[in-house]
Amino acid sequence: MPRPWPGAAMTAEALIATAQALDGLGYMPSKSGNVSIRTERGFLITPSGLPYAQLTPKELVECGPDGGVLAGQRRPSSEWRLHADIYAARPDAQALVHTHSPHATALSCARRPIPPFHYMIAMAGGDDIPCSDYATFGTPELAQAAVRAIEGRRACLLANHGVVAIGSGLAAADALAREVENLAREYLLLLASGLSPVLLTPDEMVAVKAQFRGYGRPA
Ligand SMILES: [Zn+2]
Repeated sequence: MPRPWPGAAMTAEALIATAQALDGLGYMPSKSGNVSIRTERGFLITPSGLPYAQLTPKELVECGPDGGVLAGQRRPSSEWRLHADIYAARPDAQALVHTHSPHATALSCARRPIPPFHYMIAMAGGDDIPCSDYATFGTPELAQAAVRAIEGRRACLLANHGVVAIGSGLAAADALAREVENLAREYLLLLASGLSPVLLTPDEMVAVKAQFRGYGRPA
């Protein structure tokens, strides 16, 4: 049971609630996906191979930066390196949500970024949502591919795999992972219609980001 810092119990409950809600949306099929939050010593992450519906705080795992288990009886998610490497590379990441949400995952199989067809793309921190190079799940190569793809952004697609979203907290990472799926669904609808997207220009995206700042939202 990870209980080494003030608020650990609340953090654990929030982590479980987030994972269960995303699973309920169908974004974590076949026990895929994983969620973590940064801690003082490393990060607290969902365990490997357990159905989300049954998760309890004692099944969460706290890992050090090298993936070593600091607290918990279970093995961490097989994708722990992805979390460890992104936390190491991105001091702004306080939480990480990884999903296999269906529309974004479908687009990831085309291995191309989602372009600025809609202004909400700016929510991911730039003018597109990049797609990583392909690497086998659970490997250091995938973790590094994700670090490269998410550079300068808060979300990316993982080629032939899924989505990574980071945030200043769990709620922000969760909201962004949901928005990436929403944008992917809209983009696929547009492509399927046969209409050609009219992409926003760099200047138009600058104005979007300024407007988001005016609304007090991260962009
Ligand atoms: Zn995955």
